[in-house]
Amino acid sequence: MEITPTSEWLNHGQAPLVIAGPCSAESEEQIMTIAETLKKTGIVQMLRAGVWKPRTRPNSFEGMGAKALPWLIKAEKEFGIPFTIEVANEDHVKAALDAGIRHMWIGARTTVNPFSVQEIADALNGLDIPVFVKNPLNPDLQLWIGAIERLNAAGITKLVAVHRGFSTYEKQVYRNKPNWEIPIELKTEYPNLEIIVDPSHIGGSRAVLKEISQKALDLGFDGLMIETHPNPDKALSDPKQQIVLDQFERFLEELEERHPHFEDRLAQNQLEQLRRLIDEIDHNLMESLKHRQEVVEQIGNYKAEHGVTVFQLDRWRTIISERLLLAEDKGIDNELVRSVWNEIHKASIRLQTDVVNRKLSE
Ligand code: PEP
Ligand code: MN
Repeated sequence: MEITPTSEWLNHGQAPLVIAGPCSAESEEQIMTIAETLKKTGIVQMLRAGVWKPRTRPNSFEGMGAKALPWLIKAEKEFGIPFTIEVANEDHVKAALDAGIRHMWIGARTTVNPFSVQEIADALNGLDIPVFVKNPLNPDLQLWIGAIERLNAAGITKLVAVHRGFSTYEKQVYRNKPNWEIPIELKTEYPNLEIIVDPSHIGGSRAVLKEISQKALDLGFDGLMIETHPNPDKALSDPKQQIVLDQFERFLEELEERHPHFEDRLAQNQLEQLRRLIDEIDHNLMESLKHRQEVVEQIGNYKAEHGVTVFQLDRWRTIISERLLLAEDKGIDNELVRSVWNEIHKASIRLQTDVVNRKLSE
């Protein structure tokens, strides 16, 4: 994939790329205030503002629409920082281009749909304008890559991926699950593709933005896209997650940039990225082991209540033969699987025996 690095079309030098601005453009005054304040930081290289908003439920604020475009152009001219906006179909692209907007992003709800992405790619065909591609709502790396490929095939080389977390039905601290291993895998597969992180949509609340932004820098991602608003509590969309505009510079200053940017940073980071990938995979293995242990404990309780023996030979035979078949199917070393599951099973018997003994002594 031919990618033009951001350093060729933006001036952030060796520093991470910072994109900031409101979730939604709400008024000309709001846009001018934000552009002026963010310009003063000297760190923000690009501004963001949603003009057409994809809302989960109807009858909520759906963005100011095309009438907001001239506000953005006015601010671009006055403060010299370009705006990027979300486009979700051909009409959006046309209206944005007509108004003079030259940077666009594709939202998570659009990346999931190859028809929409293709429509946007066709509308941009031959114009090598920068496009930021957010990950799809669901944790599907191929869908994300597919969207980037469709744009690339239309001649767009100024591409940047934006990691904004993945939708999940599980209750959790963050609004969207980070699944860091997915953008890391993307980076490993396409080392030339820059990936920035959107802590606002991952976190969903102001309190967690710092830790997510720091994690993004620690993992060696290339920048941040953060929502900021002069008065977030009154914002027409995403009020909980936007940083107060006046506090934004301080927020950035408090982040520690842990990875110095070397001349050949990509090459140097390659091994590092792979190690991070291993860390994430091990972390996930650990989560699975913990989950397994909890279920084993429930089974132990159930067996104790019904006076059933802990060790069930038939069940164990089924487990080990099925796991070995699965291992063969997946091309995983047979001996590794046999010994790991032996240990897992032994631990499970120990745990269940403890549960039963505890019950008996109650
Ligand atoms: C946004 O950036 O305001 C937005 C709607 O993001 P996402 O597509 O990541 O939900
Ligand atoms: Mn938003």
